[in-house]
Amino acid sequence: MKKLENYISGSWVTGDGDGQALYDAVNGEAIYSATTKGLDFASVLDYGRRVGNPALRKLTFHERGRMLRALAQYLMGRKEEFYALSYHSGATRADSWIDIEGGIGNLFANASLRRKFPDLPYCTDGEAIGLSKGGTFMGHHILVPKEGVALHINAYNFPIWGMLEKCAVNWLAGMPAVVKPASITSYLTEAVVRAIIESGILPEGALQLLCGSAGDLLEHVTAQDVVTFTGSKSTGLLLKSNRRILEESVSFNMEADSLNCIVLAPDVKPGSPEWELFIKETRKEITVKAGQKCTAIRRIFAPDDVLEDVYIALGKALSQTPIGSPRNEKVRMGALASLGQREEVRNNAQKLLATAQLVYGSLDSVELLDADGEKGAFLSPLLLLESDPFRNEAVHDIECFGPVSTVMPYKDLDEAVRLAKRGKGSLCCSIVTADNKIATEFVVGAATHHGRILVLNQECAKESTGHGSPLPLLVHGGPGRAGGGEEMGGVRGVKHYLQRTAIQGSPTTITAITQVYQPNAQGIDPGKHPFRKYYEELQVGDQIVTGKRVITPEDIDAFADLSGDHFYAHIRETDFTGTMFERQVAHGYFIMSAAAGLFVDGSDLGPVLLNYGIDELRFTKPVYPGAELTIRFTCKEKVPQDQREATDIPKGIVKWLVEMLDETGEHVGIATILTMVKRKDA
Ligand code: NAP
Repeated sequence: MKKLENYISGSWVTGDGDGQALYDAVNGEAIYSATTKGLDFASVLDYGRRVGNPALRKLTFHERGRMLRALAQYLMGRKEEFYALSYHSGATRADSWIDIEGGIGNLFANASLRRKFPDLPYCTDGEAIGLSKGGTFMGHHILVPKEGVALHINAYNFPIWGMLEKCAVNWLAGMPAVVKPASITSYLTEAVVRAIIESGILPEGALQLLCGSAGDLLEHVTAQDVVTFTGSKSTGLLLKSNRRILEESVSFNMEADSLNCIVLAPDVKPGSPEWELFIKETRKEITVKAGQKCTAIRRIFAPDDVLEDVYIALGKALSQTPIGSPRNEKVRMGALASLGQREEVRNNAQKLLATAQLVYGSLDSVELLDADGEKGAFLSPLLLLESDPFRNEAVHDIECFGPVSTVMPYKDLDEAVRLAKRGKGSLCCSIVTADNKIATEFVVGAATHHGRILVLNQECAKESTGHGSPLPLLVHGGPGRAGGGEEMGGVRGVKHYLQRTAIQGSPTTITAITQVYQPNAQGIDPGKHPFRKYYEELQVGDQIVTGKRVITPEDIDAFADLSGDHFYAHIRETDFTGTMFERQVAHGYFIMSAAAGLFVDGSDLGPVLLNYGIDELRFTKPVYPGAELTIRFTCKEKVPQDQREATDIPKGIVKWLVEMLDETGEHVGIATILTMVKRKDA
């Protein structure tokens, strides 16, 4: 029995004593032991803050994103090692795919998310706020990485995904992590951490690992740390109410257990395509990972007139799920993670059976392929029927963290919504319906109690990611019972590791800090036309004011003919009585085009490669013939681009603020345009 090591303060260290024995879920053999006894937890957190944090926080979002991509590619190259080890946890290859490649997928997704952030170690949040009439005082918000560590206390069911889905986010944000996986499957987390450290891709201190008890870890956290917890409600409550967490105002995110449901909508009848989808999805969510998924379907609601058809069809589908050794390729459902977990599931199922009846499966026996039901933690899928879900509360309260689910009747959609909410807050739920009116009514009614809702029908089924899959760019978490937390969810998830601070000052100061040009800030004389500068040479704030162009009626007529846009406002002969205009008015797109005619410099080849589009464009005042158009043209923001192929031209995106002014100096239009600009260091 090998003792797992802890990776702390830059080295692999074994804890004292024999530790907790960890068993193979399939044959019951003791394979590892885990202990953190004797480790100095205060110094672990301190090392992360002192060494890992400064190394990560000085990198830009783009550098961190590229680091994540490199790590994801490296781990993909070693994935077979993890698959081989994962069989010990009772998981089939398909189950392990979620844990291993799903986890690595989070690194890839967060790597790509860097494009939503500037090439700086910090970023802005939301919109600039004008605070003065004269335009010399304004406000904004910035987000900077917290100075502590992200401490992740994870559940046993996804030892790899559980680490990577969280670390991908804190690393992109610029914070180091200390990971404390649940002990019983911590050998998988340890294997991946070993690979990560061997890759040398992360800066020192960015990741530490504790395999075994959390000891007095929480006694050493500070306000600059972030603690995340995934696990049972009871442990979560204990940790969330820890005195130190409360006293220090430590950010605490909790993902606890959840009684997720699926609703078969009243429009779906036996034999219809949606009916088949419902049966397939429900079976999958009961049996994948032997039901040890926080998002698994625990409650099934069906119209009372098809209730019997539902449990008969589900029972039949479940009977076609081969169970046994996950190494046998025919097997579709493996073992629970430990004999202890099986015992807990059986006990909880017994509690539900006080009012419910068993309509499929057995608590005591199961037919197995290549496995011994005494030694391994196998359990038959169990389908229960609870006929009175409004009176009997247990089914909405007790989570059987295994292949157990309960079918229940409802009379109308309103009842279905009320029953879905009886879970007191869930991670996710699904409704299967081909009727978008029903979908809307259900979603709007049930959303308050759910973190995510899937509407499943024929149109999306083929490409649907399924009821049970949390996705890196969508929120994972749920209100109330589900812990009240939120993780992943794209850009917003990253913000959980950043401090939001309001900043106030002059537009010029705010431009300097945010590296985004703010209207009314002082411009910089670029020395030459900014289209003659390479990407590296351009400075945010580089500004020119162009010469004038007088807009004539002939211009407007010609633009109408050329574009084919003969809208009444652009026609000289129109009777303008009762309209919003006095007389023939220039097309907004003509003004934008005429603006380009004024600010573009590029008759011979220069660093500007092409026009990439417009982010925003507003026409703020009608332009009548005789108006004199001038453009204030300012370098607003620079966004780096990766060179994908060696043959690609090295370049970046430059955003320009185009202020279209008339002879009175008033804005007639404003736009942010984008160009691709060559780098000098080709
Ligand atoms: P658990 O028993 O609550 O343990 C969760 C984690 O907390 C483990 O790492 C555990 O470490 C640690 N822990 C336990 N007592 C602690 C203490 N006093 N101080 C510090 N840490 C402590 O949950 P589990 O059995 O591993 O996981 C199953 C549960 O997790 C289910 O209820 C499931 O619904 C939930 N879950 C939720 C999500 C979600 O995203 N919402 C995802 C997966 C699972 P040890 O293992 O060393 O005791």
